[in-house]
Amino acid sequence: MNNGWYNYAGGIAASVSNQTKIKNCYNKGEILATSTGRGCLKAGGIAGAAESEVFGCYNSGSVTANYSNENTDSVTSSGGILADCDGTVSDCYNLGRITMLGNSGYSGGLVGWLRNGSLQRSYNVAPVQSETGVAAGLVGRTGVEFSVENIYYLSGIAPNGMGVDFNRKLNTDDFDRSALAFADGTILTKLIDGRSDSDHPWANECRYLAFTATTLPVFKVQSGDAHTHVGGEWQSDGENHWRVCACNVVLEKAAHSGGTATCVKKAECTICGAEYGDFGSHSFGTEWNMDSQKHWHRCLLCAEGRSDEGAHEDRNNDHDCDVCGKTLSECADNNSDHKCDLCGQQLSEHSGGTANCKEKPKCELCGEEYGEIDPNFHTNLKHFEEKAATETAEGNIEYWYCADCGKYFSNSAATEEISESDTVTEKLPAEEKPQKTEPKTSPKTGEVADPFLWAALLFVFCGVLTGAGILCKSQKKKRADK
Ligand SMILES: [Zn+2]
Ligand SMILES: [Zn+2]
Ligand SMILES: [Zn+2]
Ligand SMILES: [Zn+2]
Ligand SMILES: [Zn+2]
Ligand SMILES: [Zn+2]
Ligand SMILES: [Zn+2]
Repeated sequence: MNNGWYNYAGGIAASVSNQTKIKNCYNKGEILATSTGRGCLKAGGIAGAAESEVFGCYNSGSVTANYSNENTDSVTSSGGILADCDGTVSDCYNLGRITMLGNSGYSGGLVGWLRNGSLQRSYNVAPVQSETGVAAGLVGRTGVEFSVENIYYLSGIAPNGMGVDFNRKLNTDDFDRSALAFADGTILTKLIDGRSDSDHPWANECRYLAFTATTLPVFKVQSGDAHTHVGGEWQSDGENHWRVCACNVVLEKAAHSGGTATCVKKAECTICGAEYGDFGSHSFGTEWNMDSQKHWHRCLLCAEGRSDEGAHEDRNNDHDCDVCGKTLSECADNNSDHKCDLCGQQLSEHSGGTANCKEKPKCELCGEEYGEIDPNFHTNLKHFEEKAATETAEGNIEYWYCADCGKYFSNSAATEEISESDTVTEKLPAEEKPQKTEPKTSPKTGEVADPFLWAALLFVFCGVLTGAGILCKSQKKKRADK
């Protein structure tokens, strides 16, 4: 180009003062600026420098600045729209590659050096490269008084959007956007920024440009190039699926649908095959699972799912859990009533104890009487010795009397029952004369050899007679009393 002190190059103008506005201008030509002199080098797609308003312009030509002088005092810059900006750049976009070679300064996708101007509602999607200097997606270097608003660059085309911000006016570098955002209208909305149609140059839809083979925000005057969208592979996120045309337009975007979620697998979209949504509910079996404390239904698909979990309970006192049927206890008779204390089932019969002629047996467990008396077992037998009868008193045989049942027995085993009268032996018949008893008491020989025996017998007889005499007197006396 040239090797003077001020070396400016631009697609529309080299440099414009604040008297001149650049509106609705487009550059499609290649800008190539080189300098070997000590002065500065400025190369812009629209203009090298502008102190005025640049509005509604785009550049699609590549911009190359090659400053081969080693003078480091010089500040070179290049930009897709302007190299240096002291005015206002608004509603512009750049499609041309920016390249700085040699002793590079500041290059930006829209503006190389934004000095004291403003940059609004513009974008750059072309790569920005610098051999030794700063390359930024939007602005290579900012000045003292500047402002930016709604400016965007395509992610990946440069390390960042704002190269050097000496005054740190920008806290974030949130200017990069995806190719889809450039194609689907997201960026376009920001560029229009709520203005009425007559106040901005943007077409109300993104259009395909064969030059970039992408769909982008363009100006109303641009009809776009013929193109038929072709969707690629299905892409998806948690909610939607879509396909993307090579031009970055998103196609067939819709919410996932179909499929059935289970507790272990989310629903599979019948269109794109992606899993989406939440896990489904468990599929509980009908059989009860249980441990010593609880019962529950288990999920047939996963190990964790449980339903209807609850503690065992036996309200009907049948020893089994009313819900799951688990046996919780065994029958027990701790109160010794022969019945299970819980379910009331009969567990045993009265047993043990000994019956006798008076009392039924007493159950060894519960202590109650049961069964029948044993009429042949007498535990209260009294023994009576035989007692000889006399003439004055009846005697008795040896016998046994049961005080419990009142029965008489002739043997100690109490097996031979007799009547009470059977025990009585009659009085001996009273003898008037001793002779009458002689056959009984006298020796068979008819002789009493022992004189002492005779004497004794005589004494007895006398006594009897004497007694009889007394009895007679007594009877007489009683009669007399009458
Ligand atoms: Zn397409
Ligand atoms: Zn889907
Ligand atoms: Zn489950
Ligand atoms: Zn249970
Ligand atoms: Zn029981
Ligand atoms: Zn009993
Ligand atoms: Zn008895």
